[in-house]
Amino acid sequence: MKAEIISVGTELLLGKTVNTDTTIIALELSRIGIDLLHACTVGDNPQRLKEAIDLALSRSDILITTGGLGPTADDLTKETLAKAAGKKLVLHKESFLRLQKQFPSLAMTPDQEKQAWLPEGAYVLLNDNGTAPGCAFETEDGKLIMMFPGPPSELEPMLKNYAVPYLLKDTREVIVSHNVHVFGKGEGPVANMIADLLESSNPTVAPYAKEGEMFVRVTAKAENEKAADEMCAPIIEEIKRRVGNFVYGVDCDSLEKLVVNLLNKQHKTIATAESCTGGLLAKRITDISGSSAVFETGCVTYANKTKEMLLGVPHETLEAHGAVSYETAKAMAEGIVKLSGADIGVGITGIAGPGGGTPEKPVGLVYIGISDGKNTYVKARKPFSRLKNREWHRHVSASDALDMVRRYLTGLPVIE
Ligand code: ATP
Repeated sequence: MKAEIISVGTELLLGKTVNTDTTIIALELSRIGIDLLHACTVGDNPQRLKEAIDLALSRSDILITTGGLGPTADDLTKETLAKAAGKKLVLHKESFLRLQKQFPSLAMTPDQEKQAWLPEGAYVLLNDNGTAPGCAFETEDGKLIMMFPGPPSELEPMLKNYAVPYLLKDTREVIVSHNVHVFGKGEGPVANMIADLLESSNPTVAPYAKEGEMFVRVTAKAENEKAADEMCAPIIEEIKRRVGNFVYGVDCDSLEKLVVNLLNKQHKTIATAESCTGGLLAKRITDISGSSAVFETGCVTYANKTKEMLLGVPHETLEAHGAVSYETAKAMAEGIVKLSGADIGVGITGIAGPGGGTPEKPVGLVYIGISDGKNTYVKARKPFSRLKNREWHRHVSASDALDMVRRYLTGLPVIE
């Protein structure tokens, strides 16, 4: 089944609204195994919308539209679609009664009533978070058209609760996906390691890049969820075997969530001393609910003076090796353990750029130290691309620190 999305709304073309509806629909279609082949945006203009509809119906099996279902004069999607598909608009009684309930104290205006007029024979997709219902109907030559309101808060629940079950009603098969998350090896090297698995057709195996990390998605189609899971399991095990310690989890939300869970399970605490990441590591840890039981403290020690004063980094170390050095990262990690009494201390110091780099210490060079008070491990992250920006270096350095803590807590080599 080939699907296509038309997003309707002049505000999208003016750049005033980000088209998150298309992302939400694309993710859901890929999850249920429907191929999305085209997505376009059209302003509130019936002629251009008609052209886009005609093109979509000539090449796709499913046409999904977003926006333009509301009560205002520029909301033209329904009328234009019904006309293009040769359908009359009729008053849908149940939707009309629902609308009446939604406007209890006001007399409903004809404009508002317009929302209950739907293409003849349409299947109604209830709107639990707004007034305009969505709907699905078939054209004479068997193409499926689905219309959704524009606001994402209305579209997303309508899609997940009503449209997806509708799309899956005639399918006997379910589709199940699992993601194997990898840190420390890129999409290309991992794809090489599992090249033969990428050829498989059921389950399918596909690598995806994520900021500074990657994941491999394994997707199986079967008669039920259990059978699909059983088909995925040996492939996932094989990926874990080949990629080894770089796999940090299957279907886990993030490195920070994993680390907070591990710390909680092991009743351990952590403290952070950050320079170039400016508190990002502490933020990512404390974003996770349950982190208060494991997060002791975080210091952003940007200046050398505070590295000395708060963390006890020796003045001579800073003089001899500089703030961005193996020795300083080590002293920061050890210093924050002493200061906080946490079980694990992390020190991060580096050059996030764009300025501040030298030939010896280029932008992107970051040292990360992990200490438990007895042993300290320090890793140097070397820049591999001059194209990465400040935000990327900071994000990936914080991820790298989290991965080192994950390795420490699971008894793996902290640096590999
Ligand atoms: P309403 O009843 O709110 O008028 P509608 O179906 O007519 O719903 P629009 O008028 O097209 O929808 O858009 C309403 C609002 O929804 C927009 O102002 C915008 O904030 C949001 N919106 C519309 N389309 C999108 C989109 N593709 N992605 C994200 N937000 C969107």
